[in-house]
Amino acid sequence: MDLTQFPVIDNHCHPLVPDKAQLDPLSLAREFYHGIGDLDDGSPKGALSPARMADVAQLGVVHTLVRQLSGLFDCPPDLAAVAIERNRRTAQGFDAYAAMLYENAGIVGTVVDSDLPDDAPGLTLIPGQVLRLFQMGPAIDALLGEKDSYQELLAGYLDALDEAVRIDGYVGVKSHLAEVVGLDAPAPSLPEATAAFDAAKRGDVAAYQALYAALFAATLTTCQELDVPVHLHTGITGGSWDGPIGNADPFLLATWLSRPEFRSSQVVLLHAGYPWIEQASMMAHAFPQVWVDISWVTPWTSLRAIECMRAFMAAAPLSRLMIGSGGHGTPEVAWLGAIVAKLALGSVLEDAIASGLMADAAARRVAAMILHDNAAQLYALEE
Ligand SMILES: [Zn+2]
Repeated sequence: MDLTQFPVIDNHCHPLVPDKAQLDPLSLAREFYHGIGDLDDGSPKGALSPARMADVAQLGVVHTLVRQLSGLFDCPPDLAAVAIERNRRTAQGFDAYAAMLYENAGIVGTVVDSDLPDDAPGLTLIPGQVLRLFQMGPAIDALLGEKDSYQELLAGYLDALDEAVRIDGYVGVKSHLAEVVGLDAPAPSLPEATAAFDAAKRGDVAAYQALYAALFAATLTTCQELDVPVHLHTGITGGSWDGPIGNADPFLLATWLSRPEFRSSQVVLLHAGYPWIEQASMMAHAFPQVWVDISWVTPWTSLRAIECMRAFMAAAPLSRLMIGSGGHGTPEVAWLGAIVAKLALGSVLEDAIASGLMADAAARRVAAMILHDNAAQLYALEE
């Protein structure tokens, strides 16, 4: 099933970086690496040795990048050739190059996870409609220094959230519950959060985690009134390997989401919980307030994307699934995310039709929903 002409909303992307207009071949490949370096250069993730960079060039997703860019550029399918051609094109205008890629993949709108101002080059470089999320972490960190009690912090935080949604038109909240606390974190009571404030302000990690979990609970209830979803990384976080990343299984959220006060909070499980992708799909089956986004899985698991797409679609209502990339830095990431999602989705739906598991007409409708319409409905976008 050819889905190339279908429009796409990228439900999860990060800012682009104007300095990445020119990239040598290995640096282009490096854009698709989310691990840590083998050299200690004092930075949190470390630096990559030439031997490790050679491994990065052998990631499956880099092979897919080379194959797809060579097709688009009509050039030989090797990393050096595609890098030379993309640099030749970006030298004539990085924004025009990004616009060409987004048009090629059909990406018409992007939900961006960033604390940059609207007019920052990293956001204006993203073609099409840009939808913003209110970020929990930066808001908490800015207010923690200013406020003198948990009650003051909570009030300031909820004011900022309210203003972002009602005044600035932000379409949701981004939380890092998995990275900061773990999805199995208990929701602290008001007395516990109040007691944690002073220590959190002094930099105590456990106290900060308690404050974060308390404010996450407040975010879930407030977002019901604001009628916007809360986005959470589940599974692979996209790069932070120093937090409680083993506690990112989507099933761990059942403790939160089964509580009566959070049953109508809209929650988007980003990265489809990868590698716990079946758990993410099951969560959308079991919990009426859950949406799942397949960002990061597309494009990063490209060589296995068809099986992943099948697992993603297995148990969830298909009206609760969305496409995303987890892209950042260079526009090729979001472009490849949409391309891989369309290839995988087309393949799964074709098989479903051929096997008698779905009617042809329903399959085309489902493709439109997952690629675009479900997100347009969740964010109440004008048609
Ligand atoms: Zn992400």
